[in-house]
Amino acid sequence: MSPAFPVPVRPVIQPPPMEEEVLTDEERTALKACIKTLMKQQDAVLVAHYYTSADLQDLAEETGGCVSDSLEMARFGHAHPAKTLIVAGVKFMGETAKILNPEKRVIMPDLNADCSLDLACPADAFAAFCDAHPDRVSVVYANTSAAVKARADWVVTSGIAAKIVKYLHQQGHKLLWAPDRHLGAYVQRVSGADMLLWQGSCVVHEAFKAESLKKLHAEHPDAAVLVHPESPESVIALADVVGSTTQLIEAVRRLPNREFIVATDNGIFHKMHAAAPGKILLEAPTAGEGATCLSCAHCPWMAMNGLRKLAAVLDSVNEGRCGNEIHIEESIRAKAAISIQRMLDFAAAEKAGQIQLGD
Ligand code: SF4
Repeated sequence: MSPAFPVPVRPVIQPPPMEEEVLTDEERTALKACIKTLMKQQDAVLVAHYYTSADLQDLAEETGGCVSDSLEMARFGHAHPAKTLIVAGVKFMGETAKILNPEKRVIMPDLNADCSLDLACPADAFAAFCDAHPDRVSVVYANTSAAVKARADWVVTSGIAAKIVKYLHQQGHKLLWAPDRHLGAYVQRVSGADMLLWQGSCVVHEAFKAESLKKLHAEHPDAAVLVHPESPESVIALADVVGSTTQLIEAVRRLPNREFIVATDNGIFHKMHAAAPGKILLEAPTAGEGATCLSCAHCPWMAMNGLRKLAAVLDSVNEGRCGNEIHIEESIRAKAAISIQRMLDFAAAEKAGQIQLGD
């Protein structure tokens, strides 16, 4: 379906160069010890996304924090008594944590850690899109700025997007969706809803290639294919399981297969190995016809997080000069919180059996 309003297309968001942190064992040990001391002094807890480095994921778990998807990171931070939340991930995750935890200080190792989806959906252009379609309910993915969330009616994560869109469709609503065109198209196919789609994409997931994946699967015919729905339709069509990061980790643990081909950021392998030791994980290919390798299955913005930067930020907080704190104007934060809360209330009601979704 082509939109009546010209959707502002950002053809390609150019990601930054990959700057993965490399540490010797001695450096790692020293940095972790230093960070642990500083975290105690500042009453801080670390929440890390599945796509961050193994070092950050390990540190989060060693210090009583959590490793999870963006929503669970914010939920965990809300329930935890620490006064400071350290969010290792990308900027919209820090913002989501702040939206749900306005009374806490939220800091990040690097505030330049962005996301191609967030960058592809500026708040003013999104507002114009909404204004042009006042008859439609607006649903945005979590990978958006606080200002876009504030303008939207609903915020969804990949794990619950299809259910919420199906519910809204059953209530008779027509929808606007932003910013990920692949996830939007997937949700549209699953729900049958009338949706106008923004044209953003994730540089990591868009790079997976169906033809190369078919060849790899032919070499490993017993492998289950796990695909995140930010991937292109041709790749999703080859999946045994389509799901959010948390759902894909659960699939590796639950399914009897010994081998898995995984189409999402390879940072997730650290948690998958821990969840299912002994299983063999293969990266879905990003090489092949039309390959640009903008990411090579790893997010360059996620890679901006590291132990050195985390230690430096905590050090600066100690000296009262932290520049990496998330601040959101209260009028925007309060509106964004309403859109997120709708999703949380829906999830709770659905879990309690109060919402029935038909076929
Ligand atoms: S992996 Fe994709 S969706 Fe996730 S932060 Fe990176 S660019 Fe954004």
